[in-house]
Amino acid sequence: MTDITVSISEGEAKTLPAGISAQDALKELVSNKQRKQAIAVMCNGEPLDLSAALTADAVLEPITMKSDEGLHLLRHSSAHIMAQAVKELFGQDVKVAIGPAIEDGYYYDFDREPSFTPDDFEAIEKKMAEIVKARQPFERRELPIAEAIEFFDKQGETYKVELLKDMDADTVSLYQQGDFIDLCRGPHIPDTSWLKSFKLLRVAGSYWRGDEKNAMLTRLYGTAFFDKKELKKYLNRLEEAKKRDHRKLGKQLGLFTIQDEVGPGLILWQPRGAQLRRLIEDYWKDEHYRFGYDLLYTPHIARQDLWKTSGHLDFYGENMYSAMEIDEVAYQLKPMNCPFHIAIYNANKHSYREFPIRWCELGTVYRYERTGALHGLMRVRGFTQDDAHIFCRPDQLEDEIFNIIDLNLHILKTFGFDDYDVYLSTRPEKYVGSDEHWELSTEALKQAMEKKGLAYEVDPGEGVFYGPKIDIKIKDQLGRSWQCSTIQVDFNLPERFEMTYTGADGAEHQPIMIHRALMGSLERFIGVLIEHYAGGFPLWMAPEQARIMNITDDQAEYCKKVYADLRKAGVRVEQDLRNEKLNYKIREAQIMKVPYMLIIGEREKEDRTVTVRKRNGDNLPPMTSQEFADMVRKECEEGLEVA
Ligand SMILES: [Zn+2]
Ligand SMILES: [Zn+2]
Repeated sequence: MTDITVSISEGEAKTLPAGISAQDALKELVSNKQRKQAIAVMCNGEPLDLSAALTADAVLEPITMKSDEGLHLLRHSSAHIMAQAVKELFGQDVKVAIGPAIEDGYYYDFDREPSFTPDDFEAIEKKMAEIVKARQPFERRELPIAEAIEFFDKQGETYKVELLKDMDADTVSLYQQGDFIDLCRGPHIPDTSWLKSFKLLRVAGSYWRGDEKNAMLTRLYGTAFFDKKELKKYLNRLEEAKKRDHRKLGKQLGLFTIQDEVGPGLILWQPRGAQLRRLIEDYWKDEHYRFGYDLLYTPHIARQDLWKTSGHLDFYGENMYSAMEIDEVAYQLKPMNCPFHIAIYNANKHSYREFPIRWCELGTVYRYERTGALHGLMRVRGFTQDDAHIFCRPDQLEDEIFNIIDLNLHILKTFGFDDYDVYLSTRPEKYVGSDEHWELSTEALKQAMEKKGLAYEVDPGEGVFYGPKIDIKIKDQLGRSWQCSTIQVDFNLPERFEMTYTGADGAEHQPIMIHRALMGSLERFIGVLIEHYAGGFPLWMAPEQARIMNITDDQAEYCKKVYADLRKAGVRVEQDLRNEKLNYKIREAQIMKVPYMLIIGEREKEDRTVTVRKRNGDNLPPMTSQEFADMVRKECEEGLEVA
């Protein structure tokens, strides 16, 4: 028997017999405690089952229960077990499609008539628990692809056959636990008993291969954890997220609506939502002005030729809506604002002395999204980017990036986000622009972040082809991450549009262009805000800051006076003078998450005051409407305190 050399990374190498299982090799290399945590291994950088035989020199790294990879693997295995349970329960009535692990869980797509409903969950979970208890090993075997096709064909698993026929491989691997055999690359947990806590979560329709022309399948979603406590925490979080769902709150608070007769993915802002949006827009514009930006407005359509020059038609065409003809010339809706800003730049000659030029626009763009992908405000077909483009000289790049980050973090903080993950994406394999420019810009991005004291992760090679970028993901109240801000250097568009400026040397140069968005899109950002605050917005952005309510009709006249005074003083106030019980009015204002209720009875009328009740139920001592207006102004100023 030949020997092989096996080690764990940075550990001492051992000579072991070839053919030894990864499991047995780990016994020789790591402590017992560590080995018991392992559910699979990375072998020379590739994931492998513990039962796999090592046939050549190998560097191993255990994949443990503690790691993200471990959890991913458990969830993937749980998808197999769920499919096994479904097949055992419903047998030949069901065909299996695909079942990957996803963020927070896994799913499996099934073809079954009638489709599954949540009423089926209990039986499936019970069957899964039996399989877990039976401790069935996951067994891998490799097969020539023709045999695999024959095998699944015999089983009537047409989806697997279709997948196999599209594969470009000589052999494929199958995994079996119990009587269930699935096509899979692996690896998996050693046996079913590792699945300690799992739950089926929801069911949804999904087209085979995401194509609306294909059969509609039933997608069962589930999740799994190594630890029961973790599962419970997750389920609580889901419950909380459901309560905060921006679609539900958007309706309850009268913020926005989406109507089928208008079109899916197109947002109609109702008065309260429009007010909220105006407040955000005004704040955004004011802060940009303070930070040295100028505002632009640009059209919604442009000649198709513009999108040819920009490259959007070639590289982004499938996200753009079809052309329309005006005076025999093709026009298209804009998917991005950049070419317009460049056209404004190119309308004049520029000198190095004018730089940096900082132009911003709340620009509404239109992009095609599949109907199935649309989701409330989060994924739409028409949205408003909080866009900006900065044109500068190479020597100004670092300062400009610093300023962008500064404004970015300042604005996010005002909205209540001060926890984020930052990523720097560097040069990919295919790129435009000189190496020198790439180096300069990547370094500028790094320097700016370091100067700002911002911790970041590098995503090597993940930059866009036209330049390096920074992405900022914010964390909301529930700890969920949302990609909002992005800062991208671009060497491509200035070249395509032949942008120039006259340098100090009198010669023509190409300016550096930076694209950036802080909120990403107003629609999505407002969706995130609704969920972050559970609809209870801070006073400065609350569409209705206060609601006046009388106890009896006797105070109606005085209420109207307070209402008029407060409106004049700039408070966003409404009045509820209906002949209803006070408690009923209070409850309605609470449902609408109005920050302050101004209650006026006989005593208040006599004293020319209002009694102030806060959203959380606390009462403030009576005050005059002037005092209340001052209090509101002060609280708003605090909320908007400038950096
Ligand atoms: Zn699998
Ligand atoms: Zn742009």
